[in-house]
Amino acid sequence: MLVKTILNRLYKFKSFVYGRVKFIEGVARPTIEVEIKARKGSKAKCSGCGYSTNSVYDRQPWRRYEFVPLWGMRVFLLYRPRRVNCPRCGVLTERVPWSEGKHSASIPYKIFLAHWARKLSWQGVSNEFNTSWQQVFRAIKYVVEWGLENRKLTGVTAIGIDEILIHRGHQYATLVYQIDANCRRLLWIGKARTAKTLLRFFRKFGRERSAKIEYVCSDMWKAYIKVVKKKVPQAVHILDRFHIVANLNKALNEVRAAETKRLKDKGYEAVLKGSRWCFLKRPDNLTDNQHYTLKELLKYNLKSVKAYLLKEDFQQFWKYVSPVWAERFLDAWCTRVMRSKIEPMKKQAKSIRKHKELILNWFRAKKLFNSGIVEGLNCKAKLTMRKAYGFRTFEGLEMALYHQLGDLPEPPLLHRFW
Ligand SMILES: [Zn+2]
Repeated sequence: MLVKTILNRLYKFKSFVYGRVKFIEGVARPTIEVEIKARKGSKAKCSGCGYSTNSVYDRQPWRRYEFVPLWGMRVFLLYRPRRVNCPRCGVLTERVPWSEGKHSASIPYKIFLAHWARKLSWQGVSNEFNTSWQQVFRAIKYVVEWGLENRKLTGVTAIGIDEILIHRGHQYATLVYQIDANCRRLLWIGKARTAKTLLRFFRKFGRERSAKIEYVCSDMWKAYIKVVKKKVPQAVHILDRFHIVANLNKALNEVRAAETKRLKDKGYEAVLKGSRWCFLKRPDNLTDNQHYTLKELLKYNLKSVKAYLLKEDFQQFWKYVSPVWAERFLDAWCTRVMRSKIEPMKKQAKSIRKHKELILNWFRAKKLFNSGIVEGLNCKAKLTMRKAYGFRTFEGLEMALYHQLGDLPEPPLLHRFW
């Protein structure tokens, strides 16, 4: 079977035919070159407006478009693009179905590279397929832009808003996810985490679609709360369970660190040394050794221990079914914390009191949106950032995240080359 026959089966064009196939040796990698010709009598399409015409102005020199590799050989399609006389655009190069713009990679090759970039790091893809990092980036950009243009944004009733640290922790980005049970995906990413950032999302998402949002999950970040209230007043705004727990853990850690230092300054042995994980882990997840350490620690009447017990008590809260009882528990818990004289914990209790209504919304939403959803997506986002390591621009990050988490539709392809 000839390469040409195979190509005709897998990737056939209406107005073009495959011509000579050459096998080239003596280069770094054996290469196959396939010539393409315009089918006799076929019209050429203007690349500006798509107008079909017989009026050909001239032909340009041969161009090479890299195609999907075969058996470790590089494959190129060769073609001399025509320039057409378009009544609207003037003299322009024709549009060809296997390529877009000035890219040297063919569309199937771009989809192919982008497919592998979901599984490997970008650098990994460029190493595996002997191509440049830039080429991989452009491939992903093509697929993502196509996907964004062709995705459907109907049926979004629940969104989650979260932030992520980027540029080695020097900057924030805001991520908006759809968290409906049947569709979880990244909807949008924007620089920074200000009110303006989130406003940009809602502007892009549109008033009509925003009006259909029923639930919003976010953390206690003031800017987000303000914008959600303004832009989706009809939605039940739920404060994310994960962030509340994370904040309590942070407070506990603060108490522990301060106390460790104080004890050390007074010359006591380091009772709290190595206790960090005992405090932060749920009791069920402790190792035997950690269990022992915890038991020992609980004997001391330390602030850290009190803070730990308060934090552990708070877990009760999530078990309630009725919002009324949950609220009673919350009030009682906050009162206890306020009397504890432990400043970092008191700060948390104040914040919880202040956002009580939004926290209780979780029960009103029948516990429908637990923190795991947004948190799971956020974990994936962080992983993606690491895997696509190598981009320095925000655009690179944007592309990587949409590509991995956007659940975007893909450009149609006659044959899957992988
Ligand atoms: Zn035109």
